[in-house]
Order: sequence, then C-alpha cells, then structure tokens
Amino acid sequence: MTKKLRVGILGATGMVGQRFIQLLEDHPQFEITALAASDRSQGKSLQEACTWRLLGEMPASVKSMIVNAPQPPLDCELIFSSLPGDIARESEGSFAAAGYPVISNSSAYRMDADVPLLIPEVNHEHLALLDSQRKNRSGGKGYIVTNPNCSTIMLALALAPLHKGFGVKSVIATTMQALSGAGYPGVASLAISDNVLPFIQGEEEKIEQETLKILGEFGDEKIHDAPLDVSAQCHRVNVSDGHMAAVRVKLNRSAGLDEVSEALASFTALPQELKLHSAPERPIIVRDEPDRPQPRQDRDAGKGMSVTVGRLFPDNVMDYRFVALSHNTIRGAAGAAILNAELLIATGILK
Ligand code: NAP
Repeated sequence: MTKKLRVGILGATGMVGQRFIQLLEDHPQFEITALAASDRSQGKSLQEACTWRLLGEMPASVKSMIVNAPQPPLDCELIFSSLPGDIARESEGSFAAAGYPVISNSSAYRMDADVPLLIPEVNHEHLALLDSQRKNRSGGKGYIVTNPNCSTIMLALALAPLHKGFGVKSVIATTMQALSGAGYPGVASLAISDNVLPFIQGEEEKIEQETLKILGEFGDEKIHDAPLDVSAQCHRVNVSDGHMAAVRVKLNRSAGLDEVSEALASFTALPQELKLHSAPERPIIVRDEPDRPQPRQDRDAGKGMSVTVGRLFPDNVMDYRFVALSHNTIRGAAGAAILNAELLIATGILK
C-alpha cells in the first residue's frame, strides 16, 4: 500500500473545514495530521473547539487532535486551507514560503496572475503557472493552487463544454445560494426566515472575474482571459446546502438543443480518464423533468461532485437558458480542493 500524504487543514472548525475532515476520512491518498483555526480554538482538542455541524459523527481519528495556529510549521506535508479570505493571504503565503504546497478555498490568491484557479475538468493546463509562481515567490517546494468561488465552479463547469463546442459569447447568471455558503453561524435566522437576501458581499464580482480566468487559455507563461461577458446577480435563500443558478447564454455559433444537451451530458475530462478518487463519473448530469434540479434532491449527485443541469431550453433573448445546481461545500469547496490535490498527485507535481 502506498504511504498516505500527511495533510493539515486550516480553518478546520468551520463549515468547509468540517467537510474536509468528513471527505478525508478513509481517503486512500491523504491522512489528516494537523488542524488549525483561530485563537478561540487553539490549544483545544477538536471536539472541545468545535461543534460538529454535518450529518453523522465527527470522525474518531480527529476528535482528540489539538488545534494549532495557522502558521508554519505544522506536522504535515500538504495544506488544505479554508480560512476566511481576509486572513488567508498572510497565512497561506507563509506556508507556501516555508515549502508547503497549499490548496486553498479562499479568495485571497485566486486572481493572482501566477496562481492556478483550478477546476481539474476544465483547465488543468493552468497548472503550468506553477513554474513562474515558484520562480517569482518561494523558489522552492512551496506553492499555492486555488479553487474557485462556490457558485463560479458550478457555472464554469457547466459553461466549459459549451465554450469548447460552440464558443460562449455572453452569460447572465442569477444565483440562489444556500445558507452554509456563509459559514457558521452565517446569516441571522431573523434575516433569512420568510425572506430572500439580494446581496452577498463580493460574490457577483467573483463570479464575473473568476469565470474569465478559468475559461481562459494558458500561453506565454500567463492566462489570457476568455473573451466573453459575464453578468451575475446573487441571492441568499433559505436552503441549507446546494447553490443554484438560473443561467442564460449566447453562443458564438448556432447549435441545436440536442447538440447543446449532448455536449453537457457527455462531458468528461482528465479526472475521469485518470479515475481520480473524487472525480464523479459524470461531471454534468442533465435532467429532463420540468421541476429539476432542486437543492434537496440533486445536491448530492455524484457524491456532491456533479453539477446538475435542467430546464434547458432555447431563450427568446439569449440563445439558451438552463438551471444549474451543485453542492457548495463539496464541489464548491472541500471536494473541489481535494480533487485538485488528487490531480496534482496524478500529474507528478505533488509527490
Ligand atoms: P466558517 O464556517 O466561518 O469557518 C471559518 C474558519 O476559519 C473556522 O475554522 C475559524 O476558526 C477560522 N478562522 C476564523 N477567523 C480566524 C482567524 N483570525 N485566524 C485563524 N482562523 C480563523 O467559514 P467557511 O464557510 O468554512 O468558509 C471558509 C473559507 O472557505 C472562506 O474563505 C470562504 O469564503 C471559503 N468558501 C466557503 C464555501 C462555503 O460554501 N461555505 C465555499 C467556497 C469557499 P474558529 O472556529 O476558531 O473561529
């Protein structure tokens, strides 16, 4: 049996941190050997520091692990980070400088020119940025790879086969985002009960900017943004897990409904070829029922790693419209980061 890589989780007590712990229990390639969170939690065992908020029990293997400060050194070979964006920059940067590979969920480094904003099915070529990142920064073993914002991942994954097949000219996305996307305790119950909130700080900008980088092309040691326009409006809705987006797209070349549907449903890429542990068999599931996707019914598709697309129709203003849905703390966060790490191992970057 191959030796497992020893991993540390920054922000281990949070919504995404707990999802990391859950997904890494019994993972064939990784074992958790270090945890870190804020000074509120440091020095305590995980079970003292943290109330388990996911279904099932906190895994026994981490219960008595002591929570550290999110600063090097930590007893691990790889860092998964789910720190809040405002403190992630300093912390993740210090781990990379100290020689640790850092796989991050946070927004802090996503738009840096030499940092891959990775979705393994969409833009694995962007890992070539790591050469210049190593030259520019640590010069050593450490580096940072990020995954996109939780709504952006879903949108970019659904757009990827359309962009490849027909060219995407413009996109309008209206999101309905789950409560767990705001972390814990997140939005006050009195603000969200019987209500929809039409504002999520920074979210619209992230979707509009990150999508261009993800669908962009690597050349001359940098990413050239995809030449398309993205418009996003974001809403917080009273759903526990599962972000949804109503999407309208204009294509560069005309395509029939069957062609568009087939391009989405048949989409597979490198992670499926390599049979990566967390890669879903079908990255995009197309449903024909008039009332799907729905968060409660579809968020766990592909163990939370598939995007479900439904309500695919020609549109009177743009070319096509559809509704996309995915699990925000799995495909949108911890699962995405773990798949990134699996790809880094499979491509020999992470040893
Ligand atoms: P969360 O539930 O609020 O958890 C935040 C975590 O960060 C906790 O472990 C907390 O530790 C730790 N932390 C907070 N302030 C800290 C500080 N000053 N120093 C060190 N640690 C600190 O948030 P979350 O939803 O897990 O989100 C974490 C990150 O992932 C954010 O950057 C978020 O934008 C990103 N993300 C979230 C989602 C999602 O669906 N939730 C999806 C994609 C990306 P304590 O428990 O000790 O306070």
